[in-house]
Amino acid sequence: MSEILCPGCGKQVSMEKLKVGDRIDCSNCANLTLRLTVNGGRYFLVEVPKASCPSCGRLVELPDGLRPGDTVKCCGGEYRLTYEFDSYALKETSAAKTRITKA
Ligand SMILES: [Zn+2]
Ligand SMILES: [Zn+2]
Repeated sequence: MSEILCPGCGKQVSMEKLKVGDRIDCSNCANLTLRLTVNGGRYFLVEVPKASCPSCGRLVELPDGLRPGDTVKCCGGEYRLTYEFDSYALKETSAAKTRITKA
C-alpha cells in the first residue's frame, strides 16, 4: 500500500518517501496542506487548517487544538480566529489596530 486518498478531492496521492507527520501539498487542491497520520494501523491524510492574515494576506497554519476565539499571531499583530462558512478566518483585534508600527 503506497497510495492514499486526498480528503479534499479524493485523488490518490503517493505515500512514497512519506512518514507519519510529514506534510504534502495536493496538486489538485489549491492551498491545501495535508499531514500524514496513522490511526489503528491505517494511514490517513488530514488537512492542516489555515487562515489568511487580514494584514499581510499570508496563509497562517493553525496549530492543533486552536479554536474560534483564540488568538493567532502574524506579522507583529494579533488576530482572533473565527469560523464562518465552513472555513477559518482571522479578524483584527482592537489590540492589533493600535499597534500599527513599522515592522
Ligand atoms: Zn486533493
Ligand atoms: Zn500577517
